[in-house]
Amino acid sequence: MKIGFIGLGIMGKPMVKNLLKAGHEVIAYDIIKENVDDVVAAGAKAGASSKAIAEECTTIITMLPNSPHVKTVICGENGVLEGAKAGTAIIDMSSIAPLASQEIEKECAKKGVKMLDAPVSGGEPKAIDGSLSIMVGGDKALFDSVKDLLLCMGASAVHCGAIGAGNTTKLANQVVVALNIAAVAEAFTLARKAGVDPNLVFDAIKGGLAGSTVMNAKAPMMIGGDFKPGFKIDLHIKDLSNALDTGHGVGSPLPLTAAVMEMMQTLRADGFGQDDHSSLAKYYAKLSGTTIQP
Ligand code: NAD
Repeated sequence: MKIGFIGLGIMGKPMVKNLLKAGHEVIAYDIIKENVDDVVAAGAKAGASSKAIAEECTTIITMLPNSPHVKTVICGENGVLEGAKAGTAIIDMSSIAPLASQEIEKECAKKGVKMLDAPVSGGEPKAIDGSLSIMVGGDKALFDSVKDLLLCMGASAVHCGAIGAGNTTKLANQVVVALNIAAVAEAFTLARKAGVDPNLVFDAIKGGLAGSTVMNAKAPMMIGGDFKPGFKIDLHIKDLSNALDTGHGVGSPLPLTAAVMEMMQTLRADGFGQDDHSSLAKYYAKLSGTTIQP
């Protein structure tokens, strides 16, 4: 199948490569030329703009930072809707506000263009090995028609409900991940400050009830003092901001999310916005005067 792909960052690049590996033809576009060159070297064709991609492809995937970027790429000048034919399907795999997905889908519908929101969980390693978890909102028949395509990039693709439901599910995921990382940072800082080796704490508790995928991924980074992203504090602030707005909108208070949001805001103010989100450990280092790293 010929696929248009817009947004070739940390996630988009490996996702394109998995589509190519599965035998699809990919026409790719990003405002950063080196990102386009990277996927062209892997066998993709370069598109001239989002509009040009839509003129050539009837299935288009977007993987962009946040709601305003997706609105610009789809609804803006030289955007997808300027080039798309009726019947084109857009699969937006970015993590954005559910309300924005609903607004963009309405604009698409005016032109007879269909849209799913299909954000992912798993980060760069799972984008590379094609085992992302994909959570999808939108028309079920459209989901069924693109599920095999999604599974070229993911290990699972679950239809969660109407348009926006994918991003609501992703926000729930991001709340659990943020709070879990903060809990790991708090607990391992306690252990270090109380004189117990965090490596031994990790070995002792990872197989018990406290163990988690988050702990397995992030505790070694905190112990090693390695905060190379991965998933950046700045992007997690974006997700928690969308979660808090959505929670306020539907009347679901998020007190723990608000607390971790302020920790991340402190890190950003201290110049760590581009660190991996495991650098929540640095917030606790500031409070305790002790790093988890030996
Ligand atoms: P990124 O910043 O690395 O990549 C985004 C890309 O979009 C960049 O290459 C940028 O140049 C491009 N872009 C921005 N505006 C554009 C425009 N107008 N036209 C064309 N291209 C444009 O971000 P990422 O880490 O790849 O994340 C993408 C999305 O996936 C985000 O919503 C993020 O929250 C989500 N996500 C990321 C991870 C992760 O671990 N990095 C994990 C799960 C989900």
